[in-house]
Amino acid sequence: MELKLYNSLSGQKETFKPILEGNIGMYVCGPTVYSNVHMGNVRTFMSFDFIYRTLLYLGYKVRYVRNITDAGHLTDDGTVENDRFVKQSRLEKLEPMELVQKYTVDFHKVLERFNLLPPTIEPTATGHILEQLELTKLLLEKGYAYEVNGSVYFDVRAYNEKGGNYGELSKRNIDELYANTRILDGQDEKKNPQDFALWKNASPAHIMKWPSPWGEGFPGWHLECTAMSTKYLGETFDIHGGGMDLKFPHHECEIAQGTACNGASPVNYWLHTNMLTLNGQKMSKSTGNTILPIELITGENTFFEKPFHPTVVRFFFLQAHYRSVVDLSNEALVASEKGYTRLMEAVKLLKSLVPAQSTEGSFDLKAWKLKCDEALLDDFNSPILIAHLFEAVKVIFAAKEGKESLSQEDLDALAEAMNCFVLEVLGLEEVEAAHSDKLDSALKVLIDLRDQARQSKNWSLSDQIRDKLLVEGIELKDSRDGTSYLIN
Ligand code: AMP
Ligand code: ZN
Repeated sequence: MELKLYNSLSGQKETFKPILEGNIGMYVCGPTVYSNVHMGNVRTFMSFDFIYRTLLYLGYKVRYVRNITDAGHLTDDGTVENDRFVKQSRLEKLEPMELVQKYTVDFHKVLERFNLLPPTIEPTATGHILEQLELTKLLLEKGYAYEVNGSVYFDVRAYNEKGGNYGELSKRNIDELYANTRILDGQDEKKNPQDFALWKNASPAHIMKWPSPWGEGFPGWHLECTAMSTKYLGETFDIHGGGMDLKFPHHECEIAQGTACNGASPVNYWLHTNMLTLNGQKMSKSTGNTILPIELITGENTFFEKPFHPTVVRFFFLQAHYRSVVDLSNEALVASEKGYTRLMEAVKLLKSLVPAQSTEGSFDLKAWKLKCDEALLDDFNSPILIAHLFEAVKVIFAAKEGKESLSQEDLDALAEAMNCFVLEVLGLEEVEAAHSDKLDSALKVLIDLRDQARQSKNWSLSDQIRDKLLVEGIELKDSRDGTSYLIN
């Protein structure tokens, strides 16, 4: 059976052929760690976690590189006022590297909560300045770049004249791009607006800067991914991933840089995941239409009626294909919670089912397993896989009621397959979700009793309730809107 995946470069589903039989090199653009990741970011990283888990399930040995962008991801003009790290450092009164540490730790904690596996290499941009300098020098030597005022830019026109095809990934026409782009302030030192910074000159006010042959400066964002992917996966590797919004200009620039340096396209298969929206609107920090993972998990937000366990959110995300837009809404999450609970009940039930006397059931386990595998092999189709898992759920409940016959052998094979698909491939976790509503109600009763104790100034009782819950791993949080809880 062949693995087919949708390659954004060709715009088609293709049969996957790794460069080295049985091995896969995969690079995924990581977070820019100047603030907390939001649920949209989590969705993208989770999609790649599912892809990674599927590749492992299919028997591949995967080198999975996901970087940390801790320098160089700036706004267009590269001025210190617009350097995201510098701006946020000032706001939070932290050293830029303290900021990086704070949000890297947060990122890891968040992904752990959603049960994402760590990548096999997690390199940082600041740890690869030398490699980025070397690539910049090489591009200058080869005539693909030019220096102006201590900054070095990639020359897109020169690249295309030498046979490159800037625009091939995002399907943009370079001449139209030239005709339609305004030159923004601060960009006028570039020969053409499409040219992008490989190295940027740093003003004295810049804090994060490094010495270079062109004076003190810092690397351009696109170059770090080329430097790190080349270093750990080679000049051409199998899979490169990221969110759709990174196709242009980031990935387009990576292709141009890699091709210009090595004379070959850097990536064989480009995978792009689709966006997460919130109540039908694009998730964006600037409009406030955004939600942090912790707000969703604790229920401390204005969007949802109740908290949702991370594994329920994971199930909800994976009910959609990675190339479809997903909308986060209360109704959708509540529906997913019900689906998740039934699925996990079936997994649990399977352990206690007794084999039937007669084994002439209608369930063809081999055919079912094949369909599950086919869904995975068809461009990582998680919603189809989940639909097949629910066929098995029906059979399991029918077997409990004596309406379906499963032999001991069938039961063992079904348990093994369900555990593998549900826990390892989908990465869901067994929590007492079936009782989560009851737990929620019980905690609300306790919170009410504590409120009453506080109103009658019985501080010792109210503190006891809080402290005893804390010992059980349940933290009460008071705010203007009332008390919520966090289960650790
Ligand atoms: P950033 O830290 O901004 O570089 O983003 C990290 C990853 O999250 C990138 O792959 C983005 O494409 C992805 N991303 C950003 N916003 C969303 C969203 N609303 N939905 C899904 N993925 C997103
Ligand atoms: Zn990248």
